[in-house]
Amino acid sequence: MCEIELEEPRDDEVVVRMAAVGICGTDLHSVKGEWQRPTPMVLGHEGAGTVEDVGDGVSLRPGDRVVLSWAPSCGKCGDCARGRPAACVPLHRAIAAGTLVDGRTGMSLNGETVYRGTATGALAERLVVSERVALPLGDDVPLEEAALLGCAALTGVGAALFAARVEPGASVVVVGAGGVGQFVLEGARIAGAETVVSVDPVEGRRDQAVQLGATAAVAPDELKKTMRELLPEGADYGFDAVGNPETTELALRWTRSGGTCVVVGLPAAGARFDLDPGEFNRREKWLTGTMYGSEDPAVALPILLEHLGAGRLQLRPLLGPTFPLDDVNDAIEASLAGSAGRVVVQP
Ligand SMILES: [Zn+2]
Ligand SMILES: [Zn+2]
Repeated sequence: MCEIELEEPRDDEVVVRMAAVGICGTDLHSVKGEWQRPTPMVLGHEGAGTVEDVGDGVSLRPGDRVVLSWAPSCGKCGDCARGRPAACVPLHRAIAAGTLVDGRTGMSLNGETVYRGTATGALAERLVVSERVALPLGDDVPLEEAALLGCAALTGVGAALFAARVEPGASVVVVGAGGVGQFVLEGARIAGAETVVSVDPVEGRRDQAVQLGATAAVAPDELKKTMRELLPEGADYGFDAVGNPETTELALRWTRSGGTCVVVGLPAAGARFDLDPGEFNRREKWLTGTMYGSEDPAVALPILLEHLGAGRLQLRPLLGPTFPLDDVNDAIEASLAGSAGRVVVQP
């Protein structure tokens, strides 16, 4: 850990004292070198904390508990106007450059720029962010659970509720039961799906999936047998919560004719599909994808909090080991090793 300098908050910014930050697959892409990013960079974009200081024009107050959205978008482009900040092209350019949309980062070390992971950089004690991405949490949810809302829950639950719009009684197959995959399962259950099949090579994650209400949770090599028994024609919805070409192909293969397959996980840079056109004409399948749950986080978060309050959405069982900020490297290792629960760092 090291001391970096933060710029003072501008008029529309707040200082957040971070309480909990989840390690997400997106952080691991940078760690593994699958995405090229400038360094030094503060990773972490799935966080919750307490407002400590506010700029002049801000309505949040010190002491307010917030969840961070990792989409500090431009606010001006067509995607932003359509309520899809995570689709904002200037934001994606900024994420690739390791900055905020205006090109600065507001962080430095001995006068040198320190970059922000996913336009956020939450693995820090304190963070300056735009008021628009510090989303009010209220007082009910413990902050280490609330961190998961910031990326995995909005992404996974949103994939089922807002991207696929799973209907009551539907059948679903979810490839991958890491953080995002487990939330896709929860989203499918909230939507009223009847049959939910989870696929993951890690036994602990399959156990977790069953506890979250999966009808069946199987290793990839058992999937064929299970689908023949439960859903011989395939599922109404297939989700790839991993984002590798092979996992997408698996989800698409077990999506029924006329069904919808949704890519949720983010691929390594340069990944390409090898697809059979017959899946789309002969079998009329739909292949689509979702970014950050396909809804404005400021709109989606209150909906998730409502499901949470009503007991339909669970966060606690998805929590994995926690680490202090000093042991952030151990946290990354635990996440790389395939922890069944979300690894959380508590600054
Ligand atoms: Zn994430
Ligand atoms: Zn925009």
